[in-house]
Amino acid sequence: MISGCPQYDLQLPRRVVFGWGRRTELASLAAELGRRAFLITGSRTLAATGLVDEIREQLHAAGVDTIPVGQITHEPEVHDVDQTVTRLLEHQPADGDLVIGLGGGSAIDLAKAVAALATNRHGNSVRDFLEGVGSGLTIDHPTLPFIAVPTTAGTGSEATKNSVISCYDPPFKKSLRSPRMVADAVLIDPELTVSVPAGVTAATGMDAITQLIESDISARTQPFTRALCLEGLQRALPAIVTAVEQPSNRPAREAMSHAAFLSGMALANSGLGLAHGVAAALGVHCRTPHGIACAVMLPAALRVNRDVRRDDLAHLGRLLTDCQSNDPDELADTFIKHIEALCRRIGIPGTLSELGVQREQIAEIVPSSHGNSMRGNPKQLTDDELTALLEKML
Ligand code: NAD
Repeated sequence: MISGCPQYDLQLPRRVVFGWGRRTELASLAAELGRRAFLITGSRTLAATGLVDEIREQLHAAGVDTIPVGQITHEPEVHDVDQTVTRLLEHQPADGDLVIGLGGGSAIDLAKAVAALATNRHGNSVRDFLEGVGSGLTIDHPTLPFIAVPTTAGTGSEATKNSVISCYDPPFKKSLRSPRMVADAVLIDPELTVSVPAGVTAATGMDAITQLIESDISARTQPFTRALCLEGLQRALPAIVTAVEQPSNRPAREAMSHAAFLSGMALANSGLGLAHGVAAALGVHCRTPHGIACAVMLPAALRVNRDVRRDDLAHLGRLLTDCQSNDPDELADTFIKHIEALCRRIGIPGTLSELGVQREQIAEIVPSSHGNSMRGNPKQLTDDELTALLEKML
Protein backbone atom coordinates (compact mmCIF):
# COMPACT_ATOMS: atom_id res chain seq x y z
CA MET A 1 0.00 0.00 0.00
CA ILE A 2 1.32 3.43 -0.92
CA SER A 3 1.12 5.86 1.95
CA GLY A 4 1.40 9.51 0.86
CA CYS A 5 2.97 12.26 2.90
CA PRO A 6 1.51 15.63 3.94
CA GLN A 7 3.35 18.86 3.15
CA TYR A 8 6.06 20.01 5.49
CA ASP A 9 8.08 23.13 5.96
CA LEU A 10 11.08 22.65 8.22
CA GLN A 11 13.21 25.16 10.05
CA LEU A 12 16.51 23.65 11.13
CA PRO A 13 19.96 24.93 12.11
CA ARG A 14 22.24 25.41 9.10
CA ARG A 15 25.23 23.44 10.47
CA VAL A 16 25.26 20.83 13.23
CA VAL A 17 28.43 19.26 14.61
CA PHE A 18 27.88 16.38 17.04
CA GLY A 19 30.42 14.22 18.82
CA TRP A 20 32.35 13.45 21.98
CA GLY A 21 35.24 15.90 22.38
CA ARG A 22 34.32 17.95 19.32
CA ARG A 23 34.19 21.22 21.30
CA THR A 24 37.68 21.79 19.85
CA GLU A 25 35.90 22.52 16.53
CA LEU A 26 33.94 25.46 17.96
CA ALA A 27 36.82 27.80 17.13
CA SER A 28 36.75 27.04 13.41
CA LEU A 29 32.94 27.18 13.32
CA ALA A 30 33.04 30.60 14.97
CA ALA A 31 35.83 31.86 12.68
CA GLU A 32 33.55 31.14 9.71
CA LEU A 33 30.95 33.49 11.19
CA GLY A 34 32.99 36.35 12.63
CA ARG A 35 35.98 37.73 14.47
CA ARG A 36 34.45 38.76 17.80
CA ALA A 37 32.13 36.56 19.86
CA PHE A 38 29.86 37.74 22.65
CA LEU A 39 29.82 34.82 25.05
CA ILE A 40 26.89 33.86 27.28
CA THR A 41 27.53 30.95 29.62
CA GLY A 42 25.57 28.86 32.11
CA SER A 43 26.93 26.58 34.78
CA ARG A 44 29.59 27.77 37.20
CA THR A 45 30.44 24.10 37.82
CA LEU A 46 31.33 23.71 34.17
CA ALA A 47 33.38 26.92 34.25
CA ALA A 48 35.23 25.59 37.32
CA THR A 49 36.37 22.55 35.32
CA GLY A 50 38.42 24.90 33.13
CA LEU A 51 36.52 23.91 29.98
CA VAL A 52 35.16 27.38 29.31
CA ASP A 53 38.63 28.92 29.56
CA GLU A 54 39.98 26.19 27.28
CA ILE A 55 37.30 27.01 24.69
CA ARG A 56 38.05 30.75 24.91
CA GLU A 57 41.75 30.10 24.35
CA GLN A 58 40.98 27.99 21.28
CA LEU A 59 38.73 30.74 19.92
CA HIS A 60 41.46 33.33 20.50
CA ALA A 61 44.00 31.14 18.70
CA ALA A 62 41.60 30.93 15.73
CA GLY A 63 41.39 34.75 15.60
CA VAL A 64 38.05 35.11 17.41
CA ASP A 65 38.11 37.36 20.48
CA THR A 66 35.53 36.57 23.14
CA ILE A 67 33.71 39.10 25.26
CA PRO A 68 31.74 37.57 28.16
CA VAL A 69 28.42 39.45 28.40
CA GLY A 70 26.42 37.16 30.63
CA GLN A 71 26.35 34.13 32.89
CA ILE A 72 23.04 32.60 33.95
CA THR A 73 22.26 29.65 36.19
CA HIS A 74 18.48 30.13 36.36
CA GLU A 75 15.74 30.17 33.74
CA PRO A 76 16.02 33.55 31.98
CA GLU A 77 13.75 36.38 33.02
CA VAL A 78 12.79 39.54 31.15
CA HIS A 79 15.32 41.63 33.08
CA ASP A 80 18.12 39.13 32.38
CA VAL A 81 17.57 39.55 28.64
CA ASP A 82 17.26 43.33 28.80
CA GLN A 83 20.37 43.75 30.96
CA THR A 84 22.45 41.41 28.79
CA VAL A 85 21.39 43.22 25.61
CA THR A 86 22.41 46.52 27.21
CA ARG A 87 25.82 45.10 28.15
CA LEU A 88 26.34 43.77 24.63
CA LEU A 89 25.35 47.07 23.01
CA GLU A 90 28.02 48.87 25.06
CA HIS A 91 30.49 47.04 22.80
CA GLN A 92 28.85 48.49 19.67
CA PRO A 93 28.18 45.31 17.72
CA ALA A 94 29.03 45.43 14.04
CA ASP A 95 29.66 43.16 11.08
CA GLY A 96 31.96 40.32 12.08
CA ASP A 97 30.38 39.90 15.52
CA LEU A 98 28.54 36.82 16.68
CA VAL A 99 26.95 35.38 19.83
CA ILE A 100 27.84 32.05 21.41
CA GLY A 101 25.52 30.46 23.99
CA LEU A 102 27.39 27.82 26.01
CA GLY A 103 25.27 26.21 28.70
CA GLY A 104 21.96 24.56 29.47
CA GLY A 105 18.67 25.59 27.92
CA SER A 106 18.66 28.71 30.12
CA ALA A 107 21.97 30.04 28.75
CA ILE A 108 21.11 29.08 25.18
CA ASP A 109 17.71 30.77 25.38
CA LEU A 110 19.27 33.89 26.85
CA ALA A 111 21.95 33.97 24.14
CA LYS A 112 19.42 33.33 21.37
CA ALA A 113 17.21 36.18 22.60
CA VAL A 114 20.16 38.54 22.99
CA ALA A 115 21.44 37.75 19.47
CA ALA A 116 17.98 38.65 18.14
CA LEU A 117 17.44 41.83 20.14
CA ALA A 118 20.93 43.19 19.50
CA THR A 119 19.85 43.91 15.94
CA ASN A 120 16.14 44.50 16.55
CA ARG A 121 16.12 47.72 18.53
CA HIS A 122 12.48 48.71 17.84
CA GLY A 123 11.23 47.97 21.35
CA ASN A 124 11.95 48.90 24.94
CA SER A 125 12.25 45.38 26.33
CA VAL A 126 12.16 41.76 25.23
CA ARG A 127 8.69 41.73 26.70
CA ASP A 128 7.43 43.80 23.74
CA PHE A 129 8.28 40.82 21.49
CA LEU A 130 6.93 37.96 23.62
CA GLU A 131 3.97 35.89 22.44
CA GLY A 132 0.76 36.59 24.30
CA VAL A 133 2.05 39.32 26.62
CA GLY A 134 4.01 41.58 24.26
CA SER A 135 2.96 44.55 22.17
CA GLY A 136 3.11 42.55 18.95
CA LEU A 137 6.64 43.54 17.91
CA THR A 138 8.42 40.99 15.74
CA ILE A 139 12.03 40.13 14.88
CA ASP A 140 12.18 41.96 11.54
CA HIS A 141 15.94 42.11 10.99
CA PRO A 142 18.54 39.35 10.77
CA THR A 143 19.94 38.52 14.22
CA LEU A 144 23.62 38.50 15.06
CA PRO A 145 25.06 35.16 13.92
CA PHE A 146 24.45 32.65 16.70
CA ILE A 147 26.12 29.41 17.76
CA ALA A 148 24.50 27.15 20.36
CA VAL A 149 26.63 24.83 22.47
CA PRO A 150 24.43 22.85 24.88
CA THR A 151 25.87 21.56 28.15
CA THR A 152 22.73 19.80 29.35
CA ALA A 153 20.95 17.05 27.40
CA GLY A 154 17.33 18.05 27.60
CA THR A 155 15.65 21.08 26.13
CA GLY A 156 16.82 20.78 22.53
CA SER A 157 16.84 24.58 22.53
CA GLU A 158 19.88 24.39 20.26
CA ALA A 159 17.52 23.22 17.50
CA THR A 160 14.58 25.58 17.98
CA LYS A 161 13.57 29.05 16.85
CA ASN A 162 12.34 30.30 20.22
CA SER A 163 13.59 31.45 23.59
CA VAL A 164 11.48 30.84 26.68
CA ILE A 165 11.48 33.92 28.92
CA SER A 166 9.91 34.13 32.37
CA CYS A 167 8.59 36.89 34.57
CA TYR A 168 7.34 36.40 38.13
CA ASP A 169 5.61 39.75 38.59
CA PRO A 170 3.31 39.65 36.70
CA PRO A 171 3.67 35.89 36.29
CA PHE A 172 4.21 34.55 32.77
CA LYS A 173 6.51 32.22 30.87
CA LYS A 174 6.36 33.00 27.17
CA SER A 175 8.36 32.61 23.99
CA LEU A 176 10.24 35.03 21.84
CA ARG A 177 9.92 33.28 18.51
CA SER A 178 11.09 33.90 14.99
CA PRO A 179 12.36 31.81 12.08
CA ARG A 180 15.36 34.19 12.13
CA MET A 181 16.34 32.82 15.55
CA VAL A 182 17.32 29.33 14.38
CA ALA A 183 21.02 28.91 15.21
CA ASP A 184 23.55 29.39 12.42
CA ALA A 185 25.58 26.56 13.90
CA VAL A 186 25.15 24.04 16.69
CA LEU A 187 27.99 22.23 18.38
CA ILE A 188 26.97 19.32 20.58
CA ASP A 189 29.77 17.71 22.57
CA PRO A 190 28.20 15.19 24.97
CA GLU A 191 31.37 15.30 27.08
CA LEU A 192 30.27 18.78 28.20
CA THR A 193 27.36 17.13 30.05
CA VAL A 194 29.57 14.89 32.22
CA SER A 195 29.60 17.44 35.06
CA VAL A 196 25.79 17.78 35.15
CA PRO A 197 24.60 16.59 38.59
CA ALA A 198 22.41 13.47 38.81
CA GLY A 199 19.20 15.34 39.64
CA VAL A 200 19.63 17.73 36.70
CA THR A 201 20.55 14.83 34.40
CA ALA A 202 17.31 13.10 35.41
CA ALA A 203 15.15 16.19 34.98
CA THR A 204 16.68 17.39 31.71
CA GLY A 205 16.70 13.86 30.30
CA MET A 206 13.02 13.47 31.10
CA ASP A 207 12.40 16.85 29.42
CA ALA A 208 13.86 15.42 26.21
CA ILE A 209 11.84 12.22 26.59
CA THR A 210 8.65 14.22 27.24
CA GLN A 211 9.34 16.33 24.15
CA LEU A 212 9.86 13.21 22.05
CA ILE A 213 6.67 11.53 23.25
CA GLU A 214 4.50 14.66 23.16
CA SER A 215 5.75 15.57 19.67
CA ASP A 216 5.08 12.02 18.51
CA ILE A 217 1.43 12.03 19.61
CA SER A 218 0.78 15.76 19.19
CA ALA A 219 -2.21 17.05 17.26
CA ARG A 220 0.32 18.63 14.88
CA THR A 221 2.64 15.66 14.51
CA GLN A 222 3.90 14.72 11.04
CA PRO A 223 5.86 11.85 9.52
CA PHE A 224 9.20 13.67 9.54
CA THR A 225 9.06 14.53 13.23
CA ARG A 226 7.71 11.10 14.18
CA ALA A 227 10.81 9.51 12.71
CA LEU A 228 12.94 11.79 14.88
CA CYS A 229 10.85 10.95 17.95
CA LEU A 230 11.20 7.23 17.50
CA GLU A 231 14.95 7.43 16.96
CA GLY A 232 15.31 9.70 20.00
CA LEU A 233 13.22 7.47 22.24
CA GLN A 234 15.05 4.33 21.13
CA ARG A 235 18.28 5.99 22.29
CA ALA A 236 17.14 7.84 25.40
CA LEU A 237 14.87 5.34 27.16
CA PRO A 238 17.59 2.69 27.64
CA ALA A 239 20.25 5.32 28.46
CA ILE A 240 18.75 7.71 30.99
CA VAL A 241 19.23 5.58 34.12
CA THR A 242 22.90 5.00 33.27
CA ALA A 243 23.44 8.69 32.53
CA VAL A 244 22.00 9.53 35.96
CA GLU A 245 23.91 6.86 37.85
CA GLN A 246 27.22 6.91 35.98
CA PRO A 247 27.92 10.52 35.01
CA SER A 248 30.99 9.74 32.89
CA ASN A 249 29.40 6.90 30.93
CA ARG A 250 30.14 7.95 27.38
CA PRO A 251 27.50 5.98 25.42
CA ALA A 252 24.78 7.06 27.84
CA ARG A 253 25.75 10.74 27.64
CA GLU A 254 26.01 10.50 23.84
CA ALA A 255 22.57 8.90 23.60
CA MET A 256 20.99 11.58 25.77
CA SER A 257 22.60 14.52 23.92
CA HIS A 258 21.59 13.07 20.57
CA ALA A 259 18.04 12.42 21.76
CA ALA A 260 17.77 15.94 23.19
CA PHE A 261 18.80 17.49 19.88
CA LEU A 262 16.26 15.35 18.01
CA SER A 263 13.60 16.34 20.53
CA GLY A 264 14.29 20.00 19.76
CA MET A 265 13.99 19.46 16.02
CA ALA A 266 10.78 17.51 16.59
CA LEU A 267 9.08 20.01 18.88
CA ALA A 268 10.03 22.95 16.67
CA ASN A 269 8.31 21.34 13.72
CA SER A 270 5.33 19.63 15.36
CA GLY A 271 3.73 20.55 18.65
CA LEU A 272 3.87 19.48 22.26
CA GLY A 273 1.06 18.81 24.69
CA LEU A 274 -0.40 18.87 28.17
CA ALA A 275 2.79 18.05 30.11
CA HIS A 276 4.59 21.04 28.60
CA GLY A 277 1.53 23.27 28.89
CA VAL A 278 1.25 22.65 32.63
CA ALA A 279 5.05 22.70 33.08
CA ALA A 280 5.21 26.31 31.89
CA ALA A 281 2.56 27.26 34.47
CA LEU A 282 4.36 25.33 37.24
CA GLY A 283 7.54 27.21 36.32
CA VAL A 284 5.86 30.57 36.70
CA HIS A 285 3.66 29.98 39.73
CA CYS A 286 5.74 27.46 41.69
CA ARG A 287 9.22 28.04 40.23
CA THR A 288 9.46 24.34 39.39
CA PRO A 289 12.47 23.68 37.13
CA HIS A 290 11.26 22.99 33.60
CA GLY A 291 12.51 19.40 33.27
CA ILE A 292 11.11 18.24 36.61
CA ALA A 293 7.75 19.82 35.84
CA CYS A 294 7.58 18.01 32.48
CA ALA A 295 8.61 14.70 34.03
CA VAL A 296 6.04 14.87 36.84
CA MET A 297 3.29 15.67 34.35
CA LEU A 298 4.25 13.14 31.66
CA PRO A 299 2.56 9.96 33.01
CA ALA A 300 -0.63 11.91 33.76
CA ALA A 301 -0.58 13.49 30.29
CA LEU A 302 -0.21 10.05 28.71
CA ARG A 303 -3.18 8.73 30.66
CA VAL A 304 -5.30 11.72 29.58
CA ASN A 305 -4.47 11.07 25.93
CA ARG A 306 -4.46 7.29 26.18
CA ASP A 307 -7.83 6.71 24.52
CA VAL A 308 -7.42 9.20 21.66
CA ARG A 309 -3.85 8.06 20.95
CA ARG A 310 -4.12 4.40 21.95
CA ASP A 311 -2.67 3.04 18.72
CA ASP A 312 0.31 5.42 18.74
CA LEU A 313 1.09 4.56 22.36
CA ALA A 314 0.69 0.86 21.55
CA HIS A 315 3.22 1.32 18.74
CA LEU A 316 5.67 2.83 21.22
CA GLY A 317 4.90 -0.02 23.66
CA ARG A 318 5.62 -2.60 20.97
CA LEU A 319 8.94 -1.02 19.98
CA LEU A 320 10.19 0.29 23.29
CA THR A 321 9.11 -2.17 25.98
CA ASP A 322 9.41 -5.93 26.50
CA CYS A 323 5.65 -6.41 26.11
CA GLN A 324 5.01 -9.30 23.70
CA SER A 325 1.25 -8.85 23.53
CA ASN A 326 -0.60 -7.99 20.33
CA ASP A 327 -3.37 -6.32 22.26
CA PRO A 328 -3.17 -2.53 21.63
CA ASP A 329 -4.77 -1.74 24.98
CA GLU A 330 -2.19 -3.78 26.83
CA LEU A 331 0.69 -2.35 24.79
CA ALA A 332 -0.42 1.25 25.35
CA ASP A 333 -0.87 0.70 29.08
CA THR A 334 2.49 -1.07 29.34
CA PHE A 335 4.21 1.90 27.69
CA ILE A 336 2.64 4.36 30.13
CA LYS A 337 3.63 2.16 33.11
CA HIS A 338 7.16 1.86 31.70
CA ILE A 339 7.51 5.66 31.63
CA GLU A 340 6.11 5.95 35.14
CA ALA A 341 8.52 3.31 36.47
CA LEU A 342 11.43 5.09 34.77
CA CYS A 343 10.48 8.36 36.46
CA ARG A 344 10.38 6.65 39.90
CA ARG A 345 13.72 4.91 39.23
CA ILE A 346 15.53 8.20 38.60
CA GLY A 347 13.92 10.02 41.50
CA ILE A 348 11.28 12.12 39.74
CA PRO A 349 8.50 12.98 42.23
CA GLY A 350 5.14 11.34 41.66
CA THR A 351 2.92 14.11 43.02
CA LEU A 352 2.56 17.85 42.71
CA SER A 353 2.71 18.23 46.50
CA GLU A 354 6.29 16.97 46.41
CA LEU A 355 7.05 19.95 44.17
CA GLY A 356 5.54 22.24 46.80
CA VAL A 357 2.35 22.94 44.84
CA GLN A 358 -0.51 24.05 47.10
CA ARG A 359 -4.17 23.29 46.34
CA GLU A 360 -5.02 27.00 46.18
CA GLN A 361 -2.39 27.57 43.46
CA ILE A 362 -4.26 25.33 41.02
CA ALA A 363 -6.71 28.13 40.23
CA GLU A 364 -3.86 30.18 38.76
CA ILE A 365 -1.98 27.22 37.26
CA VAL A 366 -4.94 26.15 35.10
CA PRO A 367 -5.37 29.34 33.04
CA SER A 368 -1.59 29.72 32.67
CA SER A 369 -1.38 26.21 31.21
CA HIS A 370 -3.19 27.14 28.01
CA GLY A 371 -0.19 28.33 26.02
CA ASN A 372 1.18 27.23 22.68
CA SER A 373 2.17 23.78 23.99
CA MET A 374 -1.30 22.88 25.21
CA ARG A 375 -2.74 23.54 21.73
CA GLY A 376 -0.80 20.50 20.50
CA ASN A 377 -2.40 18.18 23.04
CA PRO A 378 -4.41 15.48 21.21
CA LYS A 379 -7.30 15.71 23.68
CA GLN A 380 -8.65 19.14 24.57
CA LEU A 381 -9.42 19.56 28.28
CA THR A 382 -11.82 22.04 29.81
CA ASP A 383 -10.60 24.10 32.75
CA ASP A 384 -12.73 21.96 35.06
CA GLU A 385 -11.17 18.76 33.73
CA LEU A 386 -7.64 20.16 34.09
CA THR A 387 -8.44 21.35 37.61
CA ALA A 388 -9.69 17.89 38.55
CA LEU A 389 -6.57 16.28 37.06
CA LEU A 390 -4.19 18.56 38.96
CA GLU A 391 -6.10 18.15 42.23
CA LYS A 392 -5.84 14.40 41.86
CA MET A 393 -2.07 14.78 41.44
CA LEU A 394 -1.53 16.68 44.71
P1 NAD B 1 19.36 25.01 32.89
O1 NAD B 1 20.02 25.55 31.70
O2 NAD B 1 18.61 25.98 33.76
O3 NAD B 1 20.44 24.21 33.75
C1 NAD B 1 20.03 23.55 34.94
C2 NAD B 1 21.18 23.62 35.94
O4 NAD B 1 22.26 22.83 35.47
C3 NAD B 1 21.71 25.03 36.12
O5 NAD B 1 22.00 25.23 37.48
C4 NAD B 1 22.98 25.01 35.29
O6 NAD B 1 23.90 25.95 35.75
C5 NAD B 1 23.45 23.58 35.48
N1 NAD B 1 24.31 23.08 34.41
C6 NAD B 1 24.15 23.24 33.07
N2 NAD B 1 25.13 22.60 32.40
C7 NAD B 1 25.94 22.05 33.34
C8 NAD B 1 27.12 21.27 33.27
N3 NAD B 1 27.65 20.89 32.11
N4 NAD B 1 27.69 20.87 34.43
C9 NAD B 1 27.14 21.21 35.63
N5 NAD B 1 26.01 21.93 35.75
C10 NAD B 1 25.41 22.33 34.62
O7 NAD B 1 18.33 23.82 32.56
P2 NAD B 1 17.78 23.28 31.19
O8 NAD B 1 16.75 22.28 31.58
O9 NAD B 1 18.85 22.88 30.29
O10 NAD B 1 17.05 24.54 30.54
C11 NAD B 1 15.81 24.97 31.05
C12 NAD B 1 15.29 26.16 30.29
O11 NAD B 1 15.16 25.84 28.89
C13 NAD B 1 13.90 26.56 30.76
O12 NAD B 1 13.79 27.96 30.84
C14 NAD B 1 12.99 26.00 29.69
O13 NAD B 1 11.77 26.68 29.62
C15 NAD B 1 13.85 26.23 28.47
N6 NAD B 1 13.48 25.45 27.30
C16 NAD B 1 13.65 26.03 26.08
C17 NAD B 1 13.30 25.38 24.92
C18 NAD B 1 13.46 26.06 23.62
O14 NAD B 1 13.16 25.46 22.58
N7 NAD B 1 13.91 27.27 23.57
C19 NAD B 1 12.79 24.07 24.98
C20 NAD B 1 12.63 23.48 26.23
C21 NAD B 1 12.99 24.17 27.39
